[in-house]
Amino acid sequence: MNPLDAYWMPFTMNRAFKQAPRMITRARGHYYTTDDGRELLDGFSGLWTSGLGHCHPKIVAAVQAQVAELDYGMAFQVGHPKAFELATRLADMAPEGFTRCFFTNSGSEAADTALKIALAYHRARGEGQRTRLIGRERGYHGVNFGGMSVGGIPGNRKVFSAALLPGVDHIRHTHSLADMAFTRGQPSWGVHLADDLERLCALHDASNIAALIVEPVAGSTGILVPPIGYLQRLREICDRHGILLIFDEVITAFGRVGAPFAAERFGVTPDIITTAKGLTNGVVPMGAVLVRENIYQALMQGPAQTIEFLHGYTYSGHPLAAAAALATLDVYAEENTFATARALEAVFEESIHALRDAPHVIDIRNLGLMGGVELAPRDGAPGARGYEVFLKCFEAGVVVRNGGDTLQFSPFLNSTPDELSHIFSTVRQALATTA
Ligand code: PMP
Repeated sequence: MNPLDAYWMPFTMNRAFKQAPRMITRARGHYYTTDDGRELLDGFSGLWTSGLGHCHPKIVAAVQAQVAELDYGMAFQVGHPKAFELATRLADMAPEGFTRCFFTNSGSEAADTALKIALAYHRARGEGQRTRLIGRERGYHGVNFGGMSVGGIPGNRKVFSAALLPGVDHIRHTHSLADMAFTRGQPSWGVHLADDLERLCALHDASNIAALIVEPVAGSTGILVPPIGYLQRLREICDRHGILLIFDEVITAFGRVGAPFAAERFGVTPDIITTAKGLTNGVVPMGAVLVRENIYQALMQGPAQTIEFLHGYTYSGHPLAAAAALATLDVYAEENTFATARALEAVFEESIHALRDAPHVIDIRNLGLMGGVELAPRDGAPGARGYEVFLKCFEAGVVVRNGGDTLQFSPFLNSTPDELSHIFSTVRQALATTA
């Protein structure tokens, strides 16, 4: 048996990979080292995860100390101090009014947890008929059944369509090549697309709708930046109809858009925030769901001797994850990471938009340190061109990601301008030689 056969890799072309594997054996700072000793500049910060760089010494030390002290503590009916400390720190960082935090192990689990909290909240308040959920076309909220149901990526839903949650609708996504191609930052066209939510409120009667979940900036589906005023309008419509607004900030929190949370950057406060990735700088898996006080209180009304919310994971608030997250938050503060990232945006925007005249490029989108370069698909082979560029960049020593034919960029929050210029010149060369 091929020694690579047994591992069924996630979101990977397994057969192609096993013919020509790409293997990383080490990471330091902004570079990976491959098994054949090549250094690769990581242009994607892990998978949006590792904004501070890989193997940050303070986070490594915190995890090492923690594993020798308390490796695991029973998560149900027993606690350990670091999980409480972390929840408090997150509540302090989050927008005003977010006072409570539930821990998960991933973004997918955070999405499903948030949807369950929304339903439980309405039920606790005597509005148990509010069970309908609304997501967005081209939204991504992970791969569990809840997140997949509210998500709007056809490929993720295709095989499972009959098993998706009932009572879910999707509002339109906000991208339009005709109306906003090559916009820098937030498009001025498209605020009216938020009114699609009113259509669903009228269709179903809003009193049946529990929550709307959106990514403030859609990431995995190719960096879809919200039109100016769009998130504000969603907030207004949700308020008008008693619908909870959930921001999926798995990508956008912790500096990716130059602020602790995108909610702050956009000046729109949701009711629930999910996050993961940058929470631990990718070092230990962890997700979190932050909620406003009224939501928590609504669920704390039953008899005192009962579990108020029957939900949780064996590894919720895991000591190693909590230690990694606390160290990560310390480093964000000590290194002034969010302001550094914000200051780098202008250079990033210039560098990515300089690809406008490169072959195959049909759109470029950016906000914060998130960027997408959309390529014209090859006839009859959607995604093939994006994949070819990914392979060429990898060969040339730069890791980028392709989501279909959209190249995605998530540079380190503390990148240097030289690194950005190296990433984009490598991409330019790859595009020049791509069929
Ligand atoms: N939500 C969003 C917005 C994401 O980008 C992702 C992952 N890219 C997820 C949820 C799922 O997170 P995970 O892969 O940790 O389950």
